[in-house]
Amino acid sequence: MTEKKVPFTLEQIKEIIKKYPTPFHIYDEKAIRRNVRNFLKAFGWARFKEYFAVKATPNPHILKILKEEGCGTDCSSLPELILSEKAGITGENIMFSSNETPAKEYIKAKELGAIINLDDISHIPFLEKHCGIPELISFRYNPGPLRKGNPIIGDPVESKYGYTRPQIFEGFKLVRDKGAKRFGIHSFVISNELNRASYVETARMLFQLAVDLKKEIDIRLEFINLSGGIGIPYHPDQTAVDLFVLGEEVKQEYEKLIVANDLHPLKIFSECGRMITGPYGYLVATALHKKDIYKQYIGLDANMAHLMRPAIYGAYHHITVMGRENAPHDHVYDVVGSLCENNDKFAIDRKLPAIAVGDILVIHDAGAHGFAMGFNYNGKLRSAELLLKEDGSVELIRRAETIEDYFATLDFSKL
Ligand SMILES: *Cc1c(COP(=O)(O)O)cnc(C)c1O
Repeated sequence: MTEKKVPFTLEQIKEIIKKYPTPFHIYDEKAIRRNVRNFLKAFGWARFKEYFAVKATPNPHILKILKEEGCGTDCSSLPELILSEKAGITGENIMFSSNETPAKEYIKAKELGAIINLDDISHIPFLEKHCGIPELISFRYNPGPLRKGNPIIGDPVESKYGYTRPQIFEGFKLVRDKGAKRFGIHSFVISNELNRASYVETARMLFQLAVDLKKEIDIRLEFINLSGGIGIPYHPDQTAVDLFVLGEEVKQEYEKLIVANDLHPLKIFSECGRMITGPYGYLVATALHKKDIYKQYIGLDANMAHLMRPAIYGAYHHITVMGRENAPHDHVYDVVGSLCENNDKFAIDRKLPAIAVGDILVIHDAGAHGFAMGFNYNGKLRSAELLLKEDGSVELIRRAETIEDYFATLDFSKL
């Protein structure tokens, strides 16, 4: 069970809205910092580093907060590399886990001194041709039929990512011959997973691979990147992953495989996105219209362009109606946005208190893969992003998009 609370009162949010009209995303700095500290503490037994997956919340102000807490970034595109650089994150504090990568992105990653995590064996000559083989290099492993994957990410055999097991061995021999001296391995086979066992299984799989690489081809890994995929409890009936128990369980595998085979010390990395910021971001919207036809609808000033997960995954996002937290949840609504798409619904048949036009609705767990997945279909403009700072003040960390921004790539003079 998870209690769904908001980090501000009705009066506070009304004050914020006076300055920054809805819809907007707001992130709770204090909660993000507390969460990251716990995560790092849970893996404090290891030489551990978290590389925050920029795609989850690509805002340099958020990246800077995470940097201050000791995190690096995980990037997969040129703009994400530049965002990291702007936030002061460079060198081996960047993990470049890209795929189908254009040459200029590898060149930028190499320039920044980032750790390059190659998605495919054919990228070894590609990388060599465009910028040379770096001293430190990592490969992404796809275990194929050896692992099941999970419902969100699917069967690894169907996944476009990574090297097969034989290619991992072949690839490391190849880059060693080409001068690489430091090696890492990565695998990302689960997503939004609340079951600790899947993550522990990934750790065991990679630790065993480290053992096999040493035994079979005398490659000694410097790090293992467990990647992201730790889930969050979107629904109040779900429970967050206990990070301390997870840390302990991974430690047991580390001792059984890495320490026992004399491969200690080995660094352990993660690339979590969702779990780091997801629960600490909220999409705040105002009820614009009430509609009573075959069903009852609440129409918001936010829409799926601001948070796409409910529409594309049927994902549950909890909703709080500000000021009505304790009222009986005796109405059933579809809470919808204004897109000309009938799947533009934040909630379907949701039991909520009676809602009036003008009420402020808070949509929970929008802090990762929320704003970031936004789009402009139907002429919808992206919202602002706000930071609720530790002292309770609010900072605008991204202004709302304007119609001028939307038109900026058009040249009307040629009409
Ligand atoms: C998306 C992604 C992550 C982050 O996943 P979360 O589910 O947000 O933890 C990490 N690494 C790679 C390569 C990814 O594509």
